[in-house]
Amino acid sequence: MTTKSQSYLTHFRNIGIAAHIDAGKTTTTERILYYTGRNRNIGEVHDGAATMDWMEQERERGITITAAATTAHWTRSGTSDDYTVNIIDTPGHVDFTIEVERSMRVLDGAVAVFDSSQGVEPQSETVWRQADRYGVPRIAFSNKMDKTGASFELVINDIKERLGAIPAPIQYPMGAESDFKGIIDIIRMQAHTFTNDLGTDIVVSDVPAEYMDKVQEMRQQLIEAAAEVDEALMEKYLEGEEPTIEELVKAIRAGTIQKKIFPVLCGSALKNKGVQLLLDAVVDYLPSPLDVESIKGTDEEGDVHEFPADPEGKLAALAFKIMADPYVGRLTFVRIYSGTLTSGSYIYNASKDKRERVGRLLKMHANSREEVSELKAGELGAVIGLKDAGTGNTLIADGEDRVLLESIDVPEPVIKL
Ligand code: GDP
Repeated sequence: MTTKSQSYLTHFRNIGIAAHIDAGKTTTTERILYYTGRNRNIGEVHDGAATMDWMEQERERGITITAAATTAHWTRSGTSDDYTVNIIDTPGHVDFTIEVERSMRVLDGAVAVFDSSQGVEPQSETVWRQADRYGVPRIAFSNKMDKTGASFELVINDIKERLGAIPAPIQYPMGAESDFKGIIDIIRMQAHTFTNDLGTDIVVSDVPAEYMDKVQEMRQQLIEAAAEVDEALMEKYLEGEEPTIEELVKAIRAGTIQKKIFPVLCGSALKNKGVQLLLDAVVDYLPSPLDVESIKGTDEEGDVHEFPADPEGKLAALAFKIMADPYVGRLTFVRIYSGTLTSGSYIYNASKDKRERVGRLLKMHANSREEVSELKAGELGAVIGLKDAGTGNTLIADGEDRVLLESIDVPEPVIKL
């Protein structure tokens, strides 16, 4: 049950964007930051030219895209629901497999980006398996729909054949390559047509007749997949009743969180087409910190303790990346699982068996840094002033008994004599 102190967490999404090199992870992340910034009127943008200016200016200023965790905000389209979306950087190169795994530990869900002209490439397969290993729910984004050779079907088939997962397309592209015009939302049976070159203007209309049979068939398959994970929906389905949009979204969300359903979307990050709909899907289908299993830790007696996501609980945080910053020095990126980390307080680094003082706390945004007095359960940010904390260290409240959070390494079986 969600208590009052936890209620903000339903509007939190901690996500990673995972991809094969070149599939468009950077471009997709930049677009997400652009839209989430625009959403909050950070960087006023009125037309396509300004869009590019904004991106270039940010690049010159050294956009914090490279921050280990960037905090963005998204208002779900068609609603006034505000979400905090923390984007955790997942290194895309196979050589950084350990780093990828480390980042997998601190995110609750991921967007897997594929190149529609290439399908599922070997490296995407590696990242997918790592996400499987860490039980990370996913949605897939079939990017580069504007590119020569782009095929949504290719990605759908590859997800089935190469990844052995059951794809659940929730969109269907209108056109492809240079003729990529828009996206059909299969759940709501609406067509989103991009009317300017950058895709920032979208006209929503009924599904064009030429796509009707195809998307109706796909919708039927989607309802069947959703019915498999939702009993009430199954009953309706068996009685020949149509589920409501809300019921369908709820069932797909549950199936995604259980990793039984992998919603698949499409678009072109480079042309700014479909990224807003991707953000809507992130908040619709990926889990909040309350939807995933609580992190566990082991004490010196070998007893296991759970740390539910609650700002009023015992402090449990994981340092997942150390960065050197030219202005403030050592930045320790942390995810707070439980409790509240306060600037100026003392914490116990259980991994190093050391007491340390927390200096200033920062939340990293795409184009600014925000100094905060505390980081609460579910939040990610950077700590200035920790001298000893290293990647993978457990941070708990000062004075607490030593507990180590689940380690990154898969534990060897312990044979007790
Ligand atoms: P990353 O290695 O996954 O981070 O990929 P990048 O975002 O750097 O993109 C790799 C290349 O693909 C760059 O040249 C991008 O401009 C290009 N690219 C990214 N998204 C798209 C897209 O939607 N359409 C097309 N045609 N090119 C894209």
